[in-house]
Amino acid sequence: MLVKPPLLSVAEATKFLAKSAVPLTDIEIVPTLEANGRVLAAPQVSQINVPGMDNSQMDGYAVRAAECASGETRLRVSQRIPAGHVGTALEPGTAARIFTGAMVPEGADAIVMQEACELSKDADGDHVIIRHVPEAGEWIRTIGEDIRSASTILPSGVRLRPQELGLAASVGLATLPVVRKLRVAVFFTGDELTMPGEALKPGAIYNSNRFLLRGLLENLGCEVKDFGIVPDQLQATRDTLRAAAASHDLIITSGGVSVGEEDHVKPAVEAEGRLNMWQIAMKPGKPLAFGEINRSGDATGKAFFIGLPGNPVSTFVTFLIFVRPFLLRLQGVENVAPRALTMRADFNWPKADRRQEFLRARFNDQGGLDLFPHQGSGVLTSTVWGDGLIDNAPGKTIAEGDLVRFIPFDHLLN
Ligand code: AMP
Ligand code: MG
Repeated sequence: MLVKPPLLSVAEATKFLAKSAVPLTDIEIVPTLEANGRVLAAPQVSQINVPGMDNSQMDGYAVRAAECASGETRLRVSQRIPAGHVGTALEPGTAARIFTGAMVPEGADAIVMQEACELSKDADGDHVIIRHVPEAGEWIRTIGEDIRSASTILPSGVRLRPQELGLAASVGLATLPVVRKLRVAVFFTGDELTMPGEALKPGAIYNSNRFLLRGLLENLGCEVKDFGIVPDQLQATRDTLRAAAASHDLIITSGGVSVGEEDHVKPAVEAEGRLNMWQIAMKPGKPLAFGEINRSGDATGKAFFIGLPGNPVSTFVTFLIFVRPFLLRLQGVENVAPRALTMRADFNWPKADRRQEFLRARFNDQGGLDLFPHQGSGVLTSTVWGDGLIDNAPGKTIAEGDLVRFIPFDHLLN
């Protein structure tokens, strides 16, 4: 009797991959201006306060608040302080004309915005009439209110987005230490595969996974080497694996990971390294291969291997659920779990599946989710129509109005 191996749960496979991902340790120093999307390799500490001095938040007049308690105060304008210039100590009984970002002069403790002031050019000099009772500290940004000198502004393992780069620049960091880019090799198995631009022979299909995978990897900041289409032959598959392992951290393939006669990935990986083949209790995307390929001439060197199923939606979903966190961990990212939303289902899904499902759905104007009608693993249209994946637990039906766990593509694609 043939005993089928039990299906691995998504959580079990996720845990196994997390345990297996050994983060890169090579560090590069790059200009902060070129660090977008990179992973920070060491915590960053500010050497300065931000702001570096008390400064005005408005165009107006710097005053002593206590001198303006009457509600209408006439003060001589004793100096003018534009941004980037340093004034002198404020003489008692005077106001300083001041502009946004300019350093508050010593002695002043409030800014009155110019809209509450009237300038009068008198014979004995410029005066300002202040029709406002300021509180001490009003419209003043205080020294260190954003960042204190010696504080950590960014921890190790964060992915640098524009706002992280802005923060680093605000404390004067011209360069940043980042993890080197991950080198990923990809290839595509299948004698039926044809590239767009070539004529489609009978029985052939276009290699959509090539475009999917390349884009997914580029979004995650990987250096990608594309070995193209590899024929369904053991030797060709082995040769490509060996060539790719030499100079890459990770090899990702699509197709050929089932156990049919035309599926050569399994024996090829076993011959060139080590393989864990999994049947995962998920839909789409049941077969997934994970392992290592030996580097010839390097006894300990290995490249990681992940074999994704060939059906395009399966490729897409298994990449988002398994490969994305694995890649991020290799790059030293700490927080790899995508953020999920709790959303209302505006549809029925009456037939439960024994496997965990990732249903393509999208936001509607009523604040709920609509479901794409065709959830087949070859229907790429669903991934374009949808805004993300409903993560539906095994055996669970969905009735209109139920709350579901929804992971937007925006949280998965980068
Ligand atoms: P396989 O995993 O090789 O058995 O392939 C499963 C299904 O996915 C078959 O219908 C293949 O034709 C299709 N497929 C495999 N590779 C690709 C690819 N690169 N692009 C589009 N479809 C593919
Ligand atoms: Mg195939």
